[in-house]
Amino acid sequence: MSFCTACGHLTQDKVPLGDHQIRQVCVNCDTIHYVNPKVICGALAIWQDKVLLCRRAIEPRYGLWTLPAGYMELFETMEQGSARETREEAEAEVDIEHLYCMYNIPRIGQIYVLFKAQLIDGKFGAGEETIESKLFAEHEIPWEQLAFPSVERTLRHYFADKKQQDYPLHLETLGSRLDHTG
Ligand code: ZN
Repeated sequence: MSFCTACGHLTQDKVPLGDHQIRQVCVNCDTIHYVNPKVICGALAIWQDKVLLCRRAIEPRYGLWTLPAGYMELFETMEQGSARETREEAEAEVDIEHLYCMYNIPRIGQIYVLFKAQLIDGKFGAGEETIESKLFAEHEIPWEQLAFPSVERTLRHYFADKKQQDYPLHLETLGSRLDHTG
């Protein structure tokens, strides 16, 4: 059961007039509660040829390594969101360079936006949601202990692009073959 955030009455599943999808509609005030994809912003932060990863102190994927990233907030830009998440999770300040990887993950209604960035002073730490942060060279990446397929995709792109010294935008759709939970 769910309740209307406008008036507190029950909602029911139905297709509103002129719509084509089932929505949660309030039985009392007819408010339609739309649910839309969420945007996750993050950074591929580089310092002297190494990549900054964070070990998750939260579920899901506790103890595994990820790029600093999280839900975009209202009233911020994607660049600000990426810098904020890097500050919160890795206690690091970054210069955002450019948009680098975007992933559609339609199965879970998420859009992942990752910017290539430079650590400003090489300093980093561990925020509330992080056990530890660390800089990794390519041969040091814990490939078997990455939290999400989007993290692995981004790192694979980066180390391949690094050989060409060219970092084009990668836009991909991550499918249901793999286990994507963010
Ligand atoms: Zn209502």
